[in-house]
This record gives sequence, structure tokens and C-alpha cells, in this order.
Amino acid sequence: MSALRELYQEVILDHGKAPRNFGKPEHVTCESNGHNPLCGDTVTIYLHLDDGIVEEATFEGRGCAISIASASMMTEILKGKQLGEVSAMFERFHNLVTEDEAACEGGFDSEEFEKLMVLSGVREFPMRVKCATLAWHTMKAALQGGAEEVTTE
Ligand code: ZN
Repeated sequence: MSALRELYQEVILDHGKAPRNFGKPEHVTCESNGHNPLCGDTVTIYLHLDDGIVEEATFEGRGCAISIASASMMTEILKGKQLGEVSAMFERFHNLVTEDEAACEGGFDSEEFEKLMVLSGVREFPMRVKCATLAWHTMKAALQGGAEEVTTE
């Protein structure tokens, strides 16, 4: 288990240090800002939707390695997804970081699910759950056209 933890740690640090999809894309159809005051994480999610498909998903923000890694991994996974799949993924991810693995079966193809599994360790740290879910809540607000800032409080 500790070797697995180390691997998880490595993946999170890697994404934290070199986030994927960082920056504002040329075409943005919806965006939203999120803030996690407990940790000080802030994130802006940019989405380019076309005909119900996420063509582009990027983010900007600053915060702890978990919040950045979560946003980085989320944007990687969202690209090319249909909106219906995206809401299913939101639910799955939420379960992943708050409940046990059994609650999260299905909903991801296995490769994508494995990537997100690295974040499941936050389950033991309620404060960290908010770091991991910030990007997802902000993404959901962007889809709902939210102009108000999302806060984890
Ligand atoms: Zn944080």
C-alpha cells in the first residue's frame, strides 16, 4: 500500500508542477471561477462546447498540488466528452473522493478511471476533498452558465 501511495504522490506532484491544459483557449463558450478558502486554492475553468461536446477544456489557477493536479487531470479527461457523460463523471468523481471504490464502478473507461484513482487518497482527509473537488464543482458551474464564484464553503 505504501508503494502505491508513493506512486499516487508522484502523479499528483507531476501534475501539480507541470499542469496540462493550463491557460485560456482561443474559443471559450463557458467559464467559471472557483475558490476554496480553507486552503486558498483558486481556479478558473474554461470550456469550449460545440454541439453538446466538450471540444476544449483548460484552466488557470493557483493553489496546492492536489487542486492543480485535479484540475489538470479533469481537463485531460473532459476533452471529447458529451455533456451527459460529463455529469455522470462528476458524480463518479465525487463518489471516488468521498466514498469507497465500489461506489465508483462504471462511468469511466478503465484507463481514465485509473488516472483519477490517484486522487482517491484524499478521502481520508476531509479538508483535502475540497481541494480535489474544486475544479469539478467549478466546471459544473461553468456548464450551468454560473457567473457567481463557486466556493467550497
Ligand atoms: Zn488545496
